[in-house]
Amino acid sequence: MNFSVNLTTLKRADVVVVGGGAAGTCAAIAAARGGASTLLVEQYGCLGGMMTLGLVMPLSAQASKSGLSFGGILHEMLDRIVGLTKEYCGGEGKPHHLFSSPHVMKYVLLDTAVNSGVDILLHTTLVDVVRVGNRIEKLVVLSKSGLGVIEGGVFIDATGDGDLLFRAGEDYVLGSEAGVMDRLTGAGLNKVHMEERAYGNYEQDGLLQPVTMMFTMGGVDVERARPLVNRRLRFADVGLTREEFEKLPYANTPGFVVEGDELPLPQGRVLFFQNRRPGEVVVNMTRVTGINGADALELTQGEIVAQRQVFHVVDFLHRFIPGFERAYLLETAGILGVRETRRLVGRHVLTGGEAIDCAAFPDVVAHGSYIIDIHDPQGRRKAIGGPIRGDCYDIPYRSLVPKTVENLLVAGRCISSDHVAHSSTRIQGTCMLTGQAAGTAAAMARSLRGGVAEVDVVALQEALLQAGVQLFRRSGEAGKRVATVAAAADVADL
Ligand SMILES: Cc1cc2nc3c(=O)[nH]c(=O)nc-3n(C[C@H](O)[C@H](O)[C@H](O)COP(=O)(O)OP(=O)(O)OC[C@H]3O[C@@H](n4cnc5c(N)ncnc54)[C@H](O)[C@@H]3O)c2cc1C
Repeated sequence: MNFSVNLTTLKRADVVVVGGGAAGTCAAIAAARGGASTLLVEQYGCLGGMMTLGLVMPLSAQASKSGLSFGGILHEMLDRIVGLTKEYCGGEGKPHHLFSSPHVMKYVLLDTAVNSGVDILLHTTLVDVVRVGNRIEKLVVLSKSGLGVIEGGVFIDATGDGDLLFRAGEDYVLGSEAGVMDRLTGAGLNKVHMEERAYGNYEQDGLLQPVTMMFTMGGVDVERARPLVNRRLRFADVGLTREEFEKLPYANTPGFVVEGDELPLPQGRVLFFQNRRPGEVVVNMTRVTGINGADALELTQGEIVAQRQVFHVVDFLHRFIPGFERAYLLETAGILGVRETRRLVGRHVLTGGEAIDCAAFPDVVAHGSYIIDIHDPQGRRKAIGGPIRGDCYDIPYRSLVPKTVENLLVAGRCISSDHVAHSSTRIQGTCMLTGQAAGTAAAMARSLRGGVAEVDVVALQEALLQAGVQLFRRSGEAGKRVATVAAAADVADL
């Protein structure tokens, strides 16, 4: 079917960021502070994406494993988040694994972006891209005002799903590659977290981590429940028989299919995190496999199954887990939690091996430190992976840079990494850092004819350092900042 319509230009900016999650908001703030007129386009009515609407409260990878802060906009926001959460939501802050309030996050992200000069367009969804040669000229968006056009100089894809790079015809990959498990086995990380069980091979390639509907509960006696958290449980561990479980109304529905003597829970375990208020927890126990979160039909199916699972999990916790007897459901996430969809295949694909071994890159623009954390794409085994081998790993600028489109950068969950590295780079602190790097680079690239690949990486690193981002020359070497040695860096293959 052909459909033609005249479109008017809604907005125009030097830098246009699509996606107002952790990565996109930091990208827009950095671009605006870098002097570029900056537009941030977001499909929902608030900023934060997974960290607000998705109720993903642990803001991980704020620092290296030994506690060296990664700095930047991330850290600038943390003090405000802790202060406002205490003032408005009660509870106590934690220094390295902060549990933020999604309500406070919404406010802090929006307020920081507005104060930094970012022009924000909410309730607006990217639907198409006008690409001429190797440049993006315009975006087609849909909003309450109908279809419209956004013009820009440099664009940043921070949609998590790579919607912009996909619509621009840039190279991408979806899910796992061949040989993932072999490489993990070689690294000794083919173990289920905290267990010595080796993980079987993936049965096929292109597998995606499962989706999860997060929710919160109150009235939990956390200390009584704690001994059962994050363990492989059998029926007998909660005083049940298989036959008794099979009488539950949700037995043998998706996620609760009875096999063997292990308790059939969607995540294979009881998993929650204590929130800042006494008795409140964030529950990460729903799981739907085989869902491509970049496909509307599959996403809808995932929502239906996961929203049902919430009530089934709450029922199970009430009945069988000590400490949950009087607990109550507080809130379910407004959007399904999607861990993995499209990833850019950029100038450099950060591999799991490089992340695990903390390989150093001369064009480092961000660090990550989170464990390799692959939630079982095929079922209910917990998660596979384990800690990286050094203090933190480098993310090179080339992992944000596409191979063909000259005026596009990518930030957050969809940067150029393989399935294994992605399981760590997708974490919120790391997304905020790649966002800041992309935004800073985009502001610098707006006056370069050759686009983002022409950005002087040493100048970019210097700008990031000036903005308080901590870049370490070699991962794990405390205090040796990139700027002191970057002048000698040879980053020729962009
Ligand atoms: C269940 C679950 C548990 C997790 N647990 C943790 C944890 O414990 N600690 C941790 O640090 N991280 C955790 N993560 C990972 C982390 O939350 C996300 O990977 C991270 O927040 C992604 O940030 P992002 O900005 O790249 O993407 P998102 O947060 O997804 O933001 C993308 C934004 O783009 C918008 N958007 C998308 N498409 C379009 C479009 N076409 N047009 C306009 N706007 C669009 C979206 O609405 C969204 O606001 C978890 C993730 C999940 C799903």
